[in-house]
Amino acid sequence: MSIRTKIMLKLTGEVFLDKNKQLSGEPVRSIISQLKQLSKTHQFGIVVGGGNFFRGSQHGKQLGIETAVGHQIGMLATMMNGLILKDLVEQQGLSAALFCAMPSPEIGEAISQQTIHAALESRDVLIFSGGTGNPFFTTDTNAILRALQMGADVVWKGTNVDGVYDHDPRTNKHACKLTSVSYDQAFNKQLGIMDLTAYALAYQHKKTVRVFDIFTKDALILVANDPTFGSTIQ
Ligand code: UDP
Repeated sequence: MSIRTKIMLKLTGEVFLDKNKQLSGEPVRSIISQLKQLSKTHQFGIVVGGGNFFRGSQHGKQLGIETAVGHQIGMLATMMNGLILKDLVEQQGLSAALFCAMPSPEIGEAISQQTIHAALESRDVLIFSGGTGNPFFTTDTNAILRALQMGADVVWKGTNVDGVYDHDPRTNKHACKLTSVSYDQAFNKQLGIMDLTAYALAYQHKKTVRVFDIFTKDALILVANDPTFGSTIQ
């Protein structure tokens, strides 16, 4: 039985983009080398987004297609990222399992408690792609769902903001970053940390969520070692 701390890491699809918003393996290579540094003490599940390729609501609307079909394409985008991520993880000498919520045996494994447990026993990294398999859900909700399924101790939400603020920092220059936030506070102040479905699931199961800027140098090493890095919701 593994005694490593189990982490669910939610990665936005934007980690596959460079500063000019072009596809690039560089940002994610740096993230993987941090996973490798932590791999003796931490075992990672990763829920990967698809926003670098396709966001269901936004791009579906642009194309004028049915919303649910847009979401299906969004979920396919997360599977493309899953394939990229698995390849890059393995290039750095870590073992990885790729799961697909939309059955695609040529690409990855089906998700069940049995396949998750088997991968926890044998792999360093578990990559969850295909979202929840359902339209109208988000990768944030999926991250909490898979965290519960793999028994993760905590959820690390790597994003492009450096934490949770009491007001929107883009519109209020007096906004303050909150190092620690209770679920009640987050809910009452509508702090917009995650969508409500993700929030409700995390709250119900008392999952601690760390929110931080994944693009900060050594972000994962900092989350692991500095409790004041980013914001903690619990
Ligand atoms: N999506 C979905 N169901 C899910 C998870 C994701 O329909 O359970 C779709 C949704 O359309 C979303 C897209 O997949 O826009 C890509 O995910 P997301 O936008 O969260 O990617 P990120 O912003 O994290 O890169």
